[in-house]
Amino acid sequence: MSMELITLKSPREQDAMRKAGRLTAQARALAGRMVRPGVTTKEIDDAVRKFIRSHGAEPSFLNYGGFTGSACISVNEVVIHGIPSKKVVLKEGDIVSIDVGAYLDGFHGDCAATYPCGEISPEARRLIDVTCQSFWEGFQNARAGRRVSDISHAVQAYVEQHGYSVVREFVGHGVGAKLHEAPEVPNFGPAGHGARLQPGMAIAVEPMVCAGDWRVKVLRDGWTTVSVDGSLAAHYENTILITGDGPEITTVTEDGAYV
Ligand code: MG
Repeated sequence: MSMELITLKSPREQDAMRKAGRLTAQARALAGRMVRPGVTTKEIDDAVRKFIRSHGAEPSFLNYGGFTGSACISVNEVVIHGIPSKKVVLKEGDIVSIDVGAYLDGFHGDCAATYPCGEISPEARRLIDVTCQSFWEGFQNARAGRRVSDISHAVQAYVEQHGYSVVREFVGHGVGAKLHEAPEVPNFGPAGHGARLQPGMAIAVEPMVCAGDWRVKVLRDGWTTVSVDGSLAAHYENTILITGDGPEITTVTEDGAYV
């Protein structure tokens, strides 16, 4: 449990987070449009890096803890932190989770989504849809006066009602001048615990959902995180500002797209 203080963003800082968030969402959308059979995850990563830098920003993940990509690109049973590679060639039926961060004028945006590669199975489509909807269930609880675990509980309840499981070892987080700030935002647990949400907080809510068991393991490269049982996994994330008027997503494109 982090003892770090939760930062509250001033109105000026909230505006900066909106700009960083919009750019991050545009980068996610660009990456998502590139998902098709025959493309390598390195090609997508190169496009993300060029796009972010061409807008005067820096990819948040590049060199973070030694990570070599600008996006995390995680295919099928890879849950998160897939390392972009020339050797990973997407094929018809894959599901591809892309997590992107951009650092612009002192603040980060952080968002992710899982994209179908060509035609995917009905089971894979349902996993993606349930994962996205579990985020929105959590989002409804990201309101001033509620507690962090009200979000956690809403995500878990929705996912488990649909027969899937939520990852325990990795969680959402505060976000702002640093990519990972307090508080931690788990995707599981009983409601009514953790920090009380208040205007000016910014959090990344990011359900990581497995079709089978929730247990994951990190491969020997130190990053790639897979489901232990080899089941498909999906990921969906947005950066949320808590305002006096309710939750506001910063990671939305100019066209209003959240994927
Ligand atoms: Mg995140």
